[in-house]
Formats: sequence, structure tokens, C-alpha cells
Amino acid sequence: MHPVLTEREFPVAIPSFIDRAVLTVAAGNGGHGCASIHREKFKPLGGPDGGNGGNGGSVILRVDPNLTTLVEFHRQSVRRASNGQPGRGDHNNGANGEDVVLAVPDGTVISDAQTGVVLADLVGPEAEVVIAAGGRGGLGNAALASAARKAPGFALLGEEGDSRQITLELKVVADVGLVGFPSAGKSSLIAAISRARPKIADYPFTTLIPNLGVVVAGHTTFTVADVPGLIEGASEGRGLGHDFLRHIERCQAIVHVIDCATYEPGRDPLTDLDVIEAELTAHGGLEDRPRMVVLNKVDIPDAAELAALVMDDLKARGLPVFAVSTKTGVGLQALTFAMAELVAERRTQAEAKPRPTIVIRPEPIASGPEFAITRQGDGEGGFVWRVRGTKPERWVRQTDFGNPEAVGYLADRFARLGIEEELLAMGALAGDAVAIGADNPVVFDFAPQVEIGAEILSRRGEDQRLITQRPAAERRRRLDAEYHAAKAAEREAEQYTRLAAEGFGDDEDE
Ligand code: GDP
Ligand code: MG
Repeated sequence: MHPVLTEREFPVAIPSFIDRAVLTVAAGNGGHGCASIHREKFKPLGGPDGGNGGNGGSVILRVDPNLTTLVEFHRQSVRRASNGQPGRGDHNNGANGEDVVLAVPDGTVISDAQTGVVLADLVGPEAEVVIAAGGRGGLGNAALASAARKAPGFALLGEEGDSRQITLELKVVADVGLVGFPSAGKSSLIAAISRARPKIADYPFTTLIPNLGVVVAGHTTFTVADVPGLIEGASEGRGLGHDFLRHIERCQAIVHVIDCATYEPGRDPLTDLDVIEAELTAHGGLEDRPRMVVLNKVDIPDAAELAALVMDDLKARGLPVFAVSTKTGVGLQALTFAMAELVAERRTQAEAKPRPTIVIRPEPIASGPEFAITRQGDGEGGFVWRVRGTKPERWVRQTDFGNPEAVGYLADRFARLGIEEELLAMGALAGDAVAIGADNPVVFDFAPQVEIGAEILSRRGEDQRLITQRPAAERRRRLDAEYHAAKAAEREAEQYTRLAAEGFGDDEDE
């Protein structure tokens, strides 16, 4: 239930009800894996012992049924989860980052702030969505070791956590929505038929907070919400009504509250009804909701007279009509029971179709197989082979391109997934540009290591066919050789340093 707020607590300049908030969520990055070689006195060549990086924390949105506003998000608009820690030597894995769980009211719709695409629709207690997933930690070289690669001189990088700007939008989940001109008596009606005690005052725009009341009638319990300040032109953004019309999008039924005691020129119950209906039509999507009409303030004799006058016209339009007074309580019981009946009827209909709780539409990267390849023109007469796929794109992010051994490992992974074969089958030639990913793609020169149907059994680069047929392979082999020479020299130097250090009895290292 909404707290009753006094004017003093919420000066006019500060919106007293936030039902829409823009929020930046950033998950934690994964920690980098560690490349380390076990060191022990007198045993200089131990195995790889680099630990894995920890996963980054995620940002999660979860429904808390006790919340009714998004005001907290207005105060703090960036939420971040912590990073995973890097792995360390001696098989120490980095700690995972902590998740940040943000509580949102029931009925919060989350969309991408840039594209407007709905990401999730949180309905029901405890409904939740991982809105920004933490980056995976990178494997350390201990985990990367295999029979073929006994002491990897590299580790995988931790991945960046998701980060995005989202819009949170609260749609009050009410069974019945009350619409009507300001001062028609909507808030009074909620107060009279429910336990809610909304602020009531004698001026237009009396209510800036959509009130939500719980009504019990017979065996049915239902909620009623009002749409404050709905006036002519609201659907075009004039007045507050437009913003608040969102609140009745989920209502099962719409109840018109009509002021029969107004003396404003140009106003009478039928005209008021038409004006409000025109607003609903302009807003759209509410056509299928059943309607009811409440003729209010019949405790005033003139109003009672007017109500009696229009009653038949309204009934002739096929609308259930109730003449009531929120002041004296006249007609309220019949009204609430009629509302309850309508709600119960709609609920039985709704039970037939299961209610979707969470809708998540992640951007599809590749359908079906692990990757998809397309040949794309680059706009300058050239072309590029574009590879998309969750795995290959992740592998690229995990790769330390400053480490040739890590790049070689990446190439092996691509080959194992079948990317090379697919490229060859599609007609790619050595030296063609291959781009992995959509945004900030990594572009390679295609340098195939395998031939279709001809497994290369010797070490790659030693296959004689490749020397004559594939200049790119030759280039690669040369780089490989240079790299291995450099690596050997490095190892030698390392060993020398280590022995020298041990010679001085320096044993502090991990
Ligand atoms: P809202 O803007 O539609 O929420 O209207 P309110 O509930 O704030 O009511 C506006 C004014 O109409 C207040 O001064 C109420 O006291 C008055 N009012 C509401 N219902 C009745 C009624 O049944 N009889 C009389 N006489 N006045 C009413
Ligand atoms: Mg009101």
C-alpha cells in the first residue's frame, strides 16, 4: 500500500511518485587466469600452477511484494557488482565477485533504455531476472594444461561483465482501474470500499499517487487502482494522465467514475464519459476490457436527479451503471459485488491460459549450431568472412593477443569447433579476412591448418603441401618458429634467474 504522504514531505518540485526510472547496471568483470609455474627449491621445472580467475558478480532484479515505487532507483541510478579476483600461483583461484540483488515492485517491466526492447516483465513474488551477467573468470594455465600442452605459458583473460542502461517501468497490477475526471471521486471511492486511505482534497490533480486499494466482496478479493489526473488530451502527453494510463494496462476491468455534481460548463455525465473513452482509445490496447459506470455524489439532490436522467442512456449503451455516494455509502455494496463478479469471471477465463512470468529476449547470435558464417562485402569492393557465435566470440574475449601462445590456442579452439572447415567449405582462401564478432570484431587473415579430408598428422607447418600451396601458412610457420625460439630463450633466462635467486636462498616467492 502506498504511504500517505503530506505535502510538506514531498514539495511539488519533487515527483511524489516515481513509476519510471532509468538505471545503469554493470556486472563485475571476470578475474584473469594466472600463468605460473610451480617453483620449489632444487626442483626448478615444476608444472603449471596458475589458478583460475573468479567470476564477476551479476546484477539481479527481484520482485519484493512489499515495494510499491521505484523511488529508490531515482536516488541512485548506477548499480555495480564487484569484479572476480585474478587467479594466483600455487593453484589459488580468485574469489568470485558478489552479486547485487535489487528489489523492485511487483509488475516492473524492464526494457533496454536505448532500443526500448522489453527484456523482462517481472510479475509475481520472487520473480527475478539476471539483468547484467558477471563476466566469467579466465582459466589459469594449470587448468589449460593437457597432454599436448604440458606447461602453457599463458592463461585466459577474464571476460567483461555485461553493462547496459535499462528503463524500469512500474505498472500497478490491479484488477480494476478507475478512470474519470479530476475530483470525480476516484480516491474517495477507493477509500470507501477498501482499507486504503488515500489523500483526498478538493482541487484538480488531487492525487499524484495512483492509489491501490484491496477490496473484499463475498469470496472475492481484488485490487482497485485509480488513474489520477486523467484529463482531455492526456493521451497526447498533456496532464499527468498519460503517464498514469500505463497503470491500468493490466487491469481486468475499467470503471468510469463520473461526477454528477459538477457545475463546470460543458460537463455532463455523457460528455465526460465520451471524453475519457476518447483518451483510452488514443492510448490504445484497452478496447477488450469490460467497462462499468459509476455515477457519483448522489447524496447531492441535483446530482441524484442528473444520475436518474442519464441512467437509461447509459444502460442503452450496454453499460452496467451504478448510482453511488462515496460520502453516504449508498450503492457501494451493489457496486463492489458487481466488480467482484466481473473480476472472478475474468480470472477463470485467464486461468485457462498460463501467465508468462518472465520474458527475456536475448539477442540471438547464432541459431542452432555453435557458429554461423556469412560472406559480407566491406563496402570497398572487398569482403570479409563474418563469424558469429557465442563460443567463438567468448574465446576471442578470453584471449591475450599479446601472447602468441594464447593466440595459437585460440586458433586450435576455432579449428576444433569446425570453423576452419566451414570456411574452407564455403570457399574461403588463405589470406582472406575473417572477422569474429559483430561489434569490435577481431579480424584475422585466414590461415587454415587443416585440409578437408586430409588430417595433418605431423606438427602443423611441417606438412609439405602447405609450403607450396599456402603462403599464409608459411608466414604463420615463420612466426611460429620465431615465437618458439623467443620462448625458449625466455625460459632459459627465467631458469637462470630462478637458479640465481635460489642460489641466494631467496624463497619468498609464493
Ligand atoms: P478524484 O480526483 O477523482 O480522486 O476525487 P476525490 O476522491 O479526491 O474527490 C474530489 C472531491 O469530491 C472531494 O472533495 C470529495 O470529498 C468529493 N466527493 C467525492 N465523493 C463524493 C460524494 O459521494 N459526495 C459528495 N458530496 N462529495 C464527494
Ligand atoms: Mg484522486
